[in-house]
Amino acid sequence: MSISRRNFLKGTGIAAGAVAITGKPAQAGSQPRQMRTKGLQTSTTICPYCAVGCGMIVHTKGGRIVNIEGDPDHPINQGSLCSKGAALFQVANNERRLTKVKYRAAGSDRWEEKSWDWSMDRMAALMKESRDKNFVATEMIGTTEYRVNRNDGMAFLGAAALDNEECYLWGKFARAMGVGYLEHQARI
Ligand code: SF4
Repeated sequence: MSISRRNFLKGTGIAAGAVAITGKPAQAGSQPRQMRTKGLQTSTTICPYCAVGCGMIVHTKGGRIVNIEGDPDHPINQGSLCSKGAALFQVANNERRLTKVKYRAAGSDRWEEKSWDWSMDRMAALMKESRDKNFVATEMIGTTEYRVNRNDGMAFLGAAALDNEECYLWGKFARAMGVGYLEHQARI
């Protein structure tokens, strides 16, 4: 039997009307589907990827994330997410995710596991070394010598994943180190 466009629209209109009146699909015997997030613990968060800052709802079960989706009450994205944000769940649940610090020494062909304490001390020592080596105290402009207290051996790069307070601290830290090359990932 061929269905004309008019009959098709009439049919779907009747079905939609039945749903609107009864709150159920018109098909006899069909059962409402259970929400897969029913009974799970929910919390809200912000997508860490870009400066759009989409709101998300995170569902957890026994402390483990089992679903992440767009937050319909969030004024920015109103429930939608881009493909990257929609896949955020895979960052939390991924057997390939690194959870320990890996270090490869200069010239070495292997990665070693290191503690966070060791890594922080190492980074602090290298930053201090670089700052001391590249520190510019004064600069001549024309015939005048100016005090600049600038660190030319380092750059700082912020990212959209940082919130206001983290950006504030990041900027303060950069300037305390004498860094003039302070940039944001979204401008690159
Ligand atoms: S969901 Fe996409 S657009 Fe929204 S903040 Fe994340 S990366 Fe940006």
